[in-house]
Amino acid sequence: MSSVSSRALGLTTVVDGQARLVGAKCPDCGTHAFPAQAACSRCGAMMNEVALPAEGTVWSWTVQRIMPKPPYNGPQPFQPFAVGYVDLGPLKVESPLAGHAVDTWCIGEPVALVVSESGELGSHLLFWFESKEQSK
Ligand SMILES: [Zn+2]
Repeated sequence: MSSVSSRALGLTTVVDGQARLVGAKCPDCGTHAFPAQAACSRCGAMMNEVALPAEGTVWSWTVQRIMPKPPYNGPQPFQPFAVGYVDLGPLKVESPLAGHAVDTWCIGEPVALVVSESGELGSHLLFWFESKEQSK
């Protein structure tokens, strides 16, 4: 199993002790991107790296019920998981969702970023968003 971390890949950083995704912002037109990219997809200007908000809301979601193709290295036997777009304000990011049963997500539900390199989910995911409503 790979031991490459999300920080090593430049996907995450830590700001004031809080894990954040590393995106990019265009200084000319304000477009954001994740993962960070060098040039703006809208106007072509050089982008600057920014730490994206650590919390957002579920914009849309679905359940991955079929095992992804290699190099997927999640739990065996495969366990369905929720995946969605999280609205962080300046942009939406695609991410696994965790924190309660896969079929019980709600659009607009508040979520917070989790970055881990160990633990139940961290063994195969670099980051995910977890529900702030833990009681479902
Ligand atoms: Zn731009």
